[in-house]
Amino acid sequence: MKQFQYVRPTEASSAISALLKDPEAKFVAGGTNLLDLMKRGVEAPERLVDINRLPLRDITKSSQGFSIGALTLNSTLAENKEIRKDLPLLSQALLAGASAQLRNMATVGGNLLQRTRCPYFYDTSMPCNKRMPGSGCGALNGFNRMHAIFGASEHCIAVNPSDMNVALTALDATIHLSGPRGKRNIPIQDFHRLPGDQPERDTVIGKNELITGISVPTSALKHVHYLKIRDRSSYAFALVSVAAALDIRGNTIRKASLAMGGVAHKPWRLAEVENFLAGKQISANVFQEAGTLAMRGARAYEHNEFKLKLGPLSIGHALSIASGLVKA
Ligand code: SF4
Repeated sequence: MKQFQYVRPTEASSAISALLKDPEAKFVAGGTNLLDLMKRGVEAPERLVDINRLPLRDITKSSQGFSIGALTLNSTLAENKEIRKDLPLLSQALLAGASAQLRNMATVGGNLLQRTRCPYFYDTSMPCNKRMPGSGCGALNGFNRMHAIFGASEHCIAVNPSDMNVALTALDATIHLSGPRGKRNIPIQDFHRLPGDQPERDTVIGKNELITGISVPTSALKHVHYLKIRDRSSYAFALVSVAAALDIRGNTIRKASLAMGGVAHKPWRLAEVENFLAGKQISANVFQEAGTLAMRGARAYEHNEFKLKLGPLSIGHALSIASGLVKA
């Protein structure tokens, strides 16, 4: 691995200054993704700015919802009593991700910036537009079983690998950033990007910006379920996942919020399906129709055609569990 400088600032402003001094510098917190990328030669920063000493670990609750520091560990957030009570969808998604050891190191900010797990991205002997713009996409005509069925481009068909991001999308979270030009807030739906002709950019974060935290509003959608379909029951990325949240009165769905993971370069919000579900009676047929509707515009590649069938089934099952129609 290439040698690098290492600094440990204690304030956000000094962390941003440390990054500004070196265009090849990177922030590091849990390091659960970045260190792997460095070992494989995908990333080779000149300087690591360790942000673990910044005071960004608080979880606070107000009448509007939760404010969560960017350095909060995935395990801490998942096990927090208030989060489990008020935002069980977030807790479920976090616990579905990675392994207990990784959740004990990984932070909320790092999870938001987690890079794709496309194998061609990690293999420096293969073409990959995300790792090396203009080199081509190895997955397009290669082994693309884990890849996107929505929003892909001819330049990249990778998916966002995070479970947390899918739940945060269904929960309408906001990302808080701080940078040389001040602070700004971005709804999570606008934070992750589709690949277009710039697949090297996963998010809209500026080069020298730091994620300081997220806010998640209190949700009236109390009937929730996070469903993750994967090759093995632990420590595997989603083939397809669904974050489902419903507001139900009697047998009627008043409001729905739905997002999918494992299907696009960003968490995939299903606004059309949400509109379809509003006002409907809970039934297996309605949930089946919702799944079918969700697949409009989906496009499969050679090895991931199964997602066109798995997607609607997963949506129907997640809605059935969230609504109480079937048991988990
Ligand atoms: Fe690279 Fe994206 Fe193609 Fe994977 S899908 S090889 S990440 S460009």
